Amino acid sequence: MAFKVLLAETRGFCAGVERAITVVNRALEKFGSDKVYVLHEVVHNKHVVADLAVRGAHFVEHLDEIPDPENKVVIFSAHGVSLDTIAAAHDKKLTVIDATCPLVRRIHFKVQKAAQEHKEVVIIGHDGHQEVLGTVGQFAGPHDLIHVILTTDDVDKLELKTKSAIFATQTTLSIDETAKTVAALKEKFTFIEGPRQDDTCFATQHRQAAVKLLAESCDLVIVAGSQNSSNSRRLSEVAQNAGARSFLIDDCSAITPEMLDLEHVNSVGVTAGASVPEYIVTEILEYLKAHGATEVISVGPAQTKRVFPLPDSLD
Ligand code: SF4
Repeated sequence: MAFKVLLAETRGFCAGVERAITVVNRALEKFGSDKVYVLHEVVHNKHVVADLAVRGAHFVEHLDEIPDPENKVVIFSAHGVSLDTIAAAHDKKLTVIDATCPLVRRIHFKVQKAAQEHKEVVIIGHDGHQEVLGTVGQFAGPHDLIHVILTTDDVDKLELKTKSAIFATQTTLSIDETAKTVAALKEKFTFIEGPRQDDTCFATQHRQAAVKLLAESCDLVIVAGSQNSSNSRRLSEVAQNAGARSFLIDDCSAITPEMLDLEHVNSVGVTAGASVPEYIVTEILEYLKAHGATEVISVGPAQTKRVFPLPDSLD
């Protein structure tokens, strides 16, 4: 069955992910593979992590897993870490290189400032996600003055203890769903301060706008990305909310005949989360061509190219 493919022009690696991967590669060059440890997946993509592990990077979940820390380098992932983790790394005399995305760091500074000003903080995000754990961990105030919520139902249940509060959001949330939560929050707590809309980053916004365009014209939207990638999961959800069938897959090996359902498909959309290497997209396109795709049409505006500077120690 012949079908066409619509490919989102704005897809794949964002500036923060490019920076984090470059940080690991530069550290490997500078310090040697026996010395470089990365705390958590540097970005949430299994292929990126596997590729860097082959180059010699060691991935750990706890600083205690790093042997002989005084002679080792630890890289913090793009999602950021807590103040406690930073202090613990310095206590262990690890050489610290921070690959936290600068847009996440911007939120960290807001949370730190709120703690200094004795303000309560509401984080809109997925509780337990690495970025949210890091952001919450930037709050040096009492634990009962910081809250993590996600939905409007959570706003209904939320009780603040003071009349002085700020809100901030995870960078990779659904724009539409977050707008509802922010509106409910501002309505219930009229004194709360925060961004005009939210803290979702430009990469998240542009990729969600692009996948909406795909979903308008496609029966099926394939999103490349790992299951633990927040921004990739949101892309698949946005496509579904816009009326298309959608699947989130790590690579073309996950595509099945049932998924494609070629008897009923005229057009297939393809996009990729912000942590997905372009070779994964190329492989998916090759697979689709081998299964009947007659043409690949690029859709939407070209990607906004931004480059974030590297940490001084690697420049
Ligand atoms: S998705 Fe946004 S916040 Fe996350 S690394 Fe990319 S640019 Fe930074």
